[in-house]
Amino acid sequence: IVSLPDWLSIHAERRPRRVALQSDHRAITYGELHAAATSMAARAFALGVRPGHRVGVMCHQGLLHALCLHALMLLRAVLVPLNWRLQPTELAYQLEDSGASFVLCDESAAPLASQVADAVSRPVQTVVVSERAWEAEASTGAFSVPPVDVSLTSVHAIVYTSGTTGRPKGAMITYQNHWYSAMASVLQFGLDPDEHWLVPMPLFHVGGMGVLMRSLIYGTTAVVHDRFDAERVDRALASGEITLVSLVPTMLARLLKLRRGPYPSRLRAMLMGGAGCPRPVLERALELGLPVAQSYGLTETNTQVATIDLADALRKMGSSGRPLANTRIAVQGPNGPTTAPGVEGEILVQGPTVFAGYYNRKEETERALSGGWLHTGDIGRFDEDGFLYVLDRRADLIVSGGENVYPAEIESQMLALPGVVDAGVVGKPDDEWGQVPVAFVVLEPGKVLTDEMARALREELRARLAHYKVPAEIRQVDALPRTASGKLMRYEMRKWVMQG
Ligand code: AMP
Ligand code: MG
Ligand code: MG
Repeated sequence: IVSLPDWLSIHAERRPRRVALQSDHRAITYGELHAAATSMAARAFALGVRPGHRVGVMCHQGLLHALCLHALMLLRAVLVPLNWRLQPTELAYQLEDSGASFVLCDESAAPLASQVADAVSRPVQTVVVSERAWEAEASTGAFSVPPVDVSLTSVHAIVYTSGTTGRPKGAMITYQNHWYSAMASVLQFGLDPDEHWLVPMPLFHVGGMGVLMRSLIYGTTAVVHDRFDAERVDRALASGEITLVSLVPTMLARLLKLRRGPYPSRLRAMLMGGAGCPRPVLERALELGLPVAQSYGLTETNTQVATIDLADALRKMGSSGRPLANTRIAVQGPNGPTTAPGVEGEILVQGPTVFAGYYNRKEETERALSGGWLHTGDIGRFDEDGFLYVLDRRADLIVSGGENVYPAEIESQMLALPGVVDAGVVGKPDDEWGQVPVAFVVLEPGKVLTDEMARALREELRARLAHYKVPAEIRQVDALPRTASGKLMRYEMRKWVMQG
């Protein structure tokens, strides 16, 4: 067992003036971060937070979220990052389920945090962290880390899965998961000694948390934007300071509306995760010379396990690349796990970034990890060069007349049609075919979907897709249901279909 290095203390000692965290209005050095986190850990300890306790964190301000994350690590407590976009009842469920008795929150999230705390059957105390925390002196005299041995296999965080299917489950992420994710990323993208990794994504998902943890492990700078603002991100990328950025495809699509050319070459990669990037978006980005790298990963693998090399992006358009270092990926074939080209099956993952299981859910954990592989619930296939193509979620697969129909493929084609801003496809029960695809579209402002336009759209699709993939119906909606990470909640759309 490798015992855990205290990364924050190491950097605070060796490079105290290096910027650890940066936002629009503040830059926090490793020295300052260590001082503030130590004093906050002391405060939480005095209130009763102990090693191993699960503690909720709900902050609108990314820098304060990061401060809470560091304080909890110093305390050897377990972070439960809370998605403040969820409903209070959903959040109360996560506190109930994780057994958290404390929630750390910033001032603007405090009303919601209190409301949620009150809805839990156990007493839950909220602790408000303000901007003044940064002025705090380290209370090292009053507080030292309790003498608890923490190993790489200890649980660092419990992250509730976005729940596009069923009830959210708490995925246990270990220090080992972070360490190997950080190493795999360095082997993929290299390390700039002055790395500035921009994260305009929520920090309560593994994507955002991963950037904080990697920057910590490397001793480099995480640049945090509290909300995604395309113009601000574009400005930051154009400034020449940012070296890496993590985005979800919907963010890239919005950035492209502002872009006419490449960014400074100091930006090595724009890492795309959380979902497959629609083809027209990817094509446009590559045309502009943007270093877009599609990756594949999930909460249960603590971010990406496959990423495409920039050199292959055009040649292997639509692929999520090859497995990262230390990770094995296969698909479930008729005779077990295989990487044989062309076989379509559930994607399986093995490796040191695979999570430790779902908190307090023995059966679901055994099912997810049966046979020594993580069963991702996604369907994919490899090509003859070992590149992974993620087809769709197994639960979203439409079977029409015995043919597999992947909603993501149809959506990708629909987004390329004139006037279509967003598209979502689900199956509808059909007497003749079993299921047929039905599409929901968001059109450009002011446009109304007439019968004539629907016919024209279907005509266009017939030229690009097999006829059984062309949606039997196209319906206009104001917006599609998406999670914070930009994923379509197709089960919500299935409800629309059933409602007629
Ligand atoms: P989450 O459940 O929130 O952790 O998100 C993980 C899910 O996002 C995966 O199981 C996939 O369904 C989807 N996803 C992530 N990366 C990709 C990709 N490159 N292509 C298609 N879907 C993806
Ligand atoms: Mg999932
Ligand atoms: Mg997610």
